[in-house]
Amino acid sequence: MRRFHCPSCRHEVFFANTACLSCGTPLAYDPAQGFVALGGAAEPCANRAPITCNWTAEPGAGLCRSCRHTTLVPDLTIPGNADRWARIEAAKRPLIRLLDLLGLPLLDAAGQPAPVFRLMGDPPGRGAPRVLTGHKGGTITLNIAEADDARREAMRNAMGEPYRTLAGHFRHEVAHHYWEVLTRDDPGRLDRLRAVFGDDRQDYGAALAAHYRDGPPPDWAQSHISGYAAAHPWEDFAETWAHVLHLLDGLETARAFGLVPATLPEDLPALARLPMSALADVWIDLSLALNVVNQAMGHETFYPFVLSPPVIAKMEVLRALMTGEA
Ligand SMILES: [Zn+2]
Ligand SMILES: [Zn+2]
Ligand SMILES: [Zn+2]
Repeated sequence: MRRFHCPSCRHEVFFANTACLSCGTPLAYDPAQGFVALGGAAEPCANRAPITCNWTAEPGAGLCRSCRHTTLVPDLTIPGNADRWARIEAAKRPLIRLLDLLGLPLLDAAGQPAPVFRLMGDPPGRGAPRVLTGHKGGTITLNIAEADDARREAMRNAMGEPYRTLAGHFRHEVAHHYWEVLTRDDPGRLDRLRAVFGDDRQDYGAALAAHYRDGPPPDWAQSHISGYAAAHPWEDFAETWAHVLHLLDGLETARAFGLVPATLPEDLPALARLPMSALADVWIDLSLALNVVNQAMGHETFYPFVLSPPVIAKMEVLRALMTGEA
């Protein structure tokens, strides 16, 4: 994320702010021009009142460029669901900004928002089927329990994961969508991805069942960013893709606050055009430092992953894919 300033008084404004904390001007984020004062041409997103969405409405759409990607919101008669929805959308807005800046398609052939998100809570009753977070055909389903810190942390423990966040879920799930979109009409590109991540025609359901039964192979860390990435080529692609987005967003933010060398470009599209080896060098230094800073505060590790050379090579393939170089 970059830094923003109030259009009235130039005081710093953070990405989730709905007003300037210094002069009180009501503000909205316009994807094309950053923060603008509300009123006049700048119409607020229709979700500003219910979930404090702070983006401007798209012309004639009522909703903003991020909210219009959500086609199903949770049942708001259930206590806590409005708050869960708000947290989920607050994690989704930076994702939409990032995808937009990278030039990745956010509309389908018919001009409709894609991917779309369905935010669902588990149905009541012990025997009722749980809502599974995942992607199918351009639709991403997210179990809204992921917005509850205690539930998400319990899940992270149960799954033996080092990291589980809403941002991580979003960055992972959109990868499945872009695998489909970016390979659909390009068999050459599909072949190149299969050469890097493996043949995705192997049975996905059986691969996941084996992963949950047996765990990852003991040597997964040599060439995968996570144990789950070793489950199937699609999961390797999605996990690796998520880490490219982690690095790009993390480095853009660190650059904006002067935490990494000023030789790095400030502008996200320019940053994304650097080779992954260069980005990873800076990221590894930064994450080592932040891991220890977090430790000093008694927090969890900032970045509990190891970027091995084979993983960085896969990330380079996806960086080039995202920026349209490959
Ligand atoms: Zn101000
Ligand atoms: Zn909105
Ligand atoms: Zn996945």
